[in-house]
Amino acid sequence: MTPKKQKPKFIFVVGGVMSSVGKGVTAASISTILQSRGFKTTNIKCDMYVNIDAGTIRPTEHGEVFVGSDGIEADQDLGNYERFTGNEMSSLNYVTTGQVYQEVIRKERNLEYGGEDVEVVPDVPNEIIRRIRLAQKESQAEITVVEFGGTVGEYQVLLFLEAARIMKVHNPKDVAFVLVSYLPLPKHIGEMKTKPTQYAVRTLGAAGIQTDFIVARGEQTLDKKRRQTLANVCNLLDGTVVAAPDCDSIYDVPLLFHEQGFENRLLKKLSLKPRKNDFKSWENFLQKRKSAKKTVRIGIVGKYFSTGDFTLADSYISVIEAAKHACWGNNVIPDLTWVDSELYENDPQKVQKLKEFDGIIVPGGFGTRGIEGVIRAIEYARVHNIPYLGLCYGMQLACVEFARNVLGIKKANTVEMDPNTPDPIIHVNPTQSENIQKNRYGGTMRLGSYDCELKKGTKTSKAYGEKVISERHRHRYEFNNAYRDALEEKGLEVVGVNPESQLVEIVELKNHPFFVGVQFHPEFLSRPTQPHPLFLEFIKESKKRS
Ligand code: GLN
Repeated sequence: MTPKKQKPKFIFVVGGVMSSVGKGVTAASISTILQSRGFKTTNIKCDMYVNIDAGTIRPTEHGEVFVGSDGIEADQDLGNYERFTGNEMSSLNYVTTGQVYQEVIRKERNLEYGGEDVEVVPDVPNEIIRRIRLAQKESQAEITVVEFGGTVGEYQVLLFLEAARIMKVHNPKDVAFVLVSYLPLPKHIGEMKTKPTQYAVRTLGAAGIQTDFIVARGEQTLDKKRRQTLANVCNLLDGTVVAAPDCDSIYDVPLLFHEQGFENRLLKKLSLKPRKNDFKSWENFLQKRKSAKKTVRIGIVGKYFSTGDFTLADSYISVIEAAKHACWGNNVIPDLTWVDSELYENDPQKVQKLKEFDGIIVPGGFGTRGIEGVIRAIEYARVHNIPYLGLCYGMQLACVEFARNVLGIKKANTVEMDPNTPDPIIHVNPTQSENIQKNRYGGTMRLGSYDCELKKGTKTSKAYGEKVISERHRHRYEFNNAYRDALEEKGLEVVGVNPESQLVEIVELKNHPFFVGVQFHPEFLSRPTQPHPLFLEFIKESKKRS
């Protein structure tokens, strides 16, 4: 007799009280602990924006735009899903309100509703369910963890909750809910408060959903008394409230969950039995990370750090994580500092402070603000032999800096900065200039994975140990091949090219400890247990300086 095929299971992760308390890390960690018990998982992020994707949202507003190999411009949570689980995310793993409505309206225009009137309910939730099921089917995941952006009680999350409710009603044993809530600890009271979470549970109740688990985020761990209060008031047995206090590192969260037996409780709720207990490799990684003694100081010079009076590192989250992974891989402690490039525009002398760093990274960026400051920082790294890694804009601007200061082409520029420059070191191809002219900005950059052929005998090819690599892209402008010979003659070598288009993907400076610029985003492929080779090499050189 063939065994009955197990039905796909779904876990919905929703937020209570306030956003930015770690729903993404929770969803990624849930997937990780379920994998450790032998289950194939996938993750989906549902964003409430009417935007079709995250590509058109300002980074200081929304954080990094994470790019999948198929070119999806997604929420940064997909980065955590990939880093924690090793599962590759695609456009199927990212759902927005905009995509859902676009599809419903497309179907209506094509008469696919067969003459029926099209209603917000049930047609919109049905489209959400279709997308969730499609992502599950394509990935063949046994358990799909679906995270809803925002918090319960927000108007825009209602149709998504309705979709989840319908799925639960039809398959009560196959759907579980996790509420990630925040328990404030006001200083003047000195006690952790459960009331906001109680309200969040009730609000969820008003949408027809009883949560099965609460992940209690807070500065401190939840004590027994409050755990019981929450369990009583929120219709939960004692065991289903999971404590999630602030940790040193996001990578500690799966262990924190595992120690509370969270994965077994989730499995029980979904009528599944654990198949194995394979948490060792994650524990080994955490253990190894703690053995580092020496510190490496890395300066990340970017333009998306300031928002009002606050500094936000979210815009470069994958870069920061990749740098950390590579530090741990080199058995050193990461000491990362974010520097706003505008600082060097307002006061050029301040660039001298860069000598305090063992390595400098210039990550991706767009537009003109802060760019001359970036160019000053790159010049400093080049002249003072500080290891340098330029990512996307950081590669393009390294070429501009070299052309200006080494080749003496004073007006060299990227056309993004100066559309009329007489020396467009970085230019734009005809398709892209048409996109710009016609204001076609959504999803039209050079996006997703492209091959790159490496030049033998270079630092880059040694780091990769391969002839052809594939990396993810997100850019509109390109290196102008008309300047290639001039740059190479003076030592800035082209060491990676796309074999089909001949587009320049990597430049590397001769006679420098490490000066590499890449047109792509290697940070998206770095994993805590498998740091990216270029970052590893960059940190290795930086370590020598420290
Ligand atoms: N602004 C540059 C371009 O569009 C670089 C993009 C990036 O750094 N991601 O080509």
